[in-house]
Amino acid sequence: MKIGVLALQGDFSEHISMLKKIGVDAVEVRLPKHLDDLDGLIIPGGESTTIGKLSVAYDLMAPLKQFGKSHAIWGTCAGAIFLSKNANSEQPLLGLMDIKVQRNAFGRQVDSFETDLEIDELMKATGTEHPYHAIFIRAPLIESVHGKARILSALEDGRIVAAQEGRLLATSFHPELTNDTRFHEYFISLAS
Ligand code: GLN
Repeated sequence: MKIGVLALQGDFSEHISMLKKIGVDAVEVRLPKHLDDLDGLIIPGGESTTIGKLSVAYDLMAPLKQFGKSHAIWGTCAGAIFLSKNANSEQPLLGLMDIKVQRNAFGRQVDSFETDLEIDELMKATGTEHPYHAIFIRAPLIESVHGKARILSALEDGRIVAAQEGRLLATSFHPELTNDTRFHEYFISLAS
């Protein structure tokens, strides 16, 4: 099992550490050839416009879209925006997941917050019962899911913060900034 982390901008090194912690071979992806022998890819949090522009500049757009047709990809925060089909914004998107996202949806004043989420599927997959403590930083909201995409987790008021479409995963929050490895384990199960 070998997982790549898109390392153009954002908190890719935290994802690499998390993967190493659960014993997975993890490599940085900066060029199309780095995708060659991977089982899955993580797109980190950061700034989705920057990640998009750099992906265009590094000729990664087409290879990433192609990779996502047959492999697992997980986008956290900015990565989730980049994976989406619609971000209500003019910026390069992979358009792989049939979700509509709203950037910076939690406003400027409350830029960051943390909350416990009950994510049935995650608990079932990892055989655990405690909630998942999620960290949101200038987070996007998943406004709606379409086609084959489905809701994986929502806040108590119903706002969607995680979605899945086959092997594609999108989270508004940052599992790489916690000590809880369950989301990374869940992603590995999708990649294998
Ligand atoms: N606000 C960023 C964006 O719109 C995402 C923030 C993050 O990844 N923590 O791209």
